[in-house]
Amino acid sequence: MKAVTILGATGSIGRSTLAVLAGHPDRYRLHALTANDNVAALLPLVLAHRPRFAVLRDEAAARELKAALSGQGGTTRVLAGAAGLEEVAADAEVDVVMAAIVGAAGLAPTLAAVHSGKQVLLANKESLVMAGALFMEAVSASGSTLLPVDSEHNAIFQCLPRDYRCGTSPQGVRRILLTGSGGPFRTHAAEALDQVTPAEACAHPNWSMGPKISVDSATMMNKGLELIEACWLFATEHQAIDIVVHPQSIVHSMVEYVDGSVLAQLGQPDMRTPIASALAWPRRMSSGVSPLDLIAQGRLEFEAPDELRFPCLRLARQAIAAGGSLPTALNAANEVAVAAFLEQRIRFTSIPAIIEQVLAATEVRMPTSLAEVEQVDAAARREARSAVEACAGQGRFTQPTI
Ligand code: NAD
Ligand code: MG
Repeated sequence: MKAVTILGATGSIGRSTLAVLAGHPDRYRLHALTANDNVAALLPLVLAHRPRFAVLRDEAAARELKAALSGQGGTTRVLAGAAGLEEVAADAEVDVVMAAIVGAAGLAPTLAAVHSGKQVLLANKESLVMAGALFMEAVSASGSTLLPVDSEHNAIFQCLPRDYRCGTSPQGVRRILLTGSGGPFRTHAAEALDQVTPAEACAHPNWSMGPKISVDSATMMNKGLELIEACWLFATEHQAIDIVVHPQSIVHSMVEYVDGSVLAQLGQPDMRTPIASALAWPRRMSSGVSPLDLIAQGRLEFEAPDELRFPCLRLARQAIAAGGSLPTALNAANEVAVAAFLEQRIRFTSIPAIIEQVLAATEVRMPTSLAEVEQVDAAARREARSAVEACAGQGRFTQPTI
């Protein structure tokens, strides 16, 4: 029986993880479920799964959850705040931590799991983008087993030799081919992107995901963040990683070897597959995902990404090429700009413009501690907020007429 903590249990990845675990009650028990501040979302999960701990980052929400649970039977203990998140990530009883908090907030609890040598299933790509060098140093120092959950990175991992461990250079690899659907605006004209709404940006053609990553997919910053994530996970230079647009999202990524072999992992666009693959590694177990019918699928297409319509790809490459503080600033600026777009304060096309402005204002230096990473993150957020104010001052965007 392995004990599992799910950081970000109320989210899209958190719920898919609970769905996979529900199929294997003989192998896993839930140690902790965590969320940000949404009591209404966490309460039913706690009542259904009865974990040992439930954690809310928000202290007032945690008090509310505690009150709601009293008299309901069960022995779930409620914890609160950053300390509560880190406690259930690092607890000696825990074997596996699913890191599925969205954004920079995931870094500290995920690092706590890494430091205590857990098997860490990483969905929270932002923590690697923000602090890749420190994160991977912690993985190698603690002996933690890092397993990628992001579908592309999970695919790449599956295409690497069986004894491959994240953070080491894979032998005989010439290139990594990172696939992406191109998002909901893949075929939009550049001029049309100015008027797209948050609802349209969140309507992904193939994947059902949380709002932040949905907007990232629409700007293609998701692929930019994944490029940086892949550089760290697979100890690979960004020049050896090509982005390939694949609208059907059936091939989840590929590895090209020096002998010309190209290995690909295919499957339905359903996160339960990479989640089950990481949970059961190095073995296999069922995920509840229906089999892939390639004949019904018929066609698999591939095309080059367009960095003119989707400048976030270029900005992410620029950030990882410069290294150090730039990926941290890229991630922070993106989080601020995406939140402002979701609140309808800025246009879709202002997202890359704001990030570019923040990158230009960020001095390239090599943070050597988490405190330094957090300083860079905070400075970039300040810069991005003032850029948002300047854009928002130009007026709310008007809804498209069609
Ligand atoms: P989501 O918005 O659906 O869920 C986010 C979770 O994080 C929620 O449980 C929320 O309560 C928690 N959270 C948010 N802010 C927090 C904070 N400040 N402190 C503590 N907890 C907080 O997001 P998601 O789509 O499930 O994505 C989660 C992560 O997985 C992201 O990093 C995303 O990039 C990555 N990812 C998601 C998918 C997907 O299909 N959804 C695929 C690949 C990678
Ligand atoms: Mg992905």
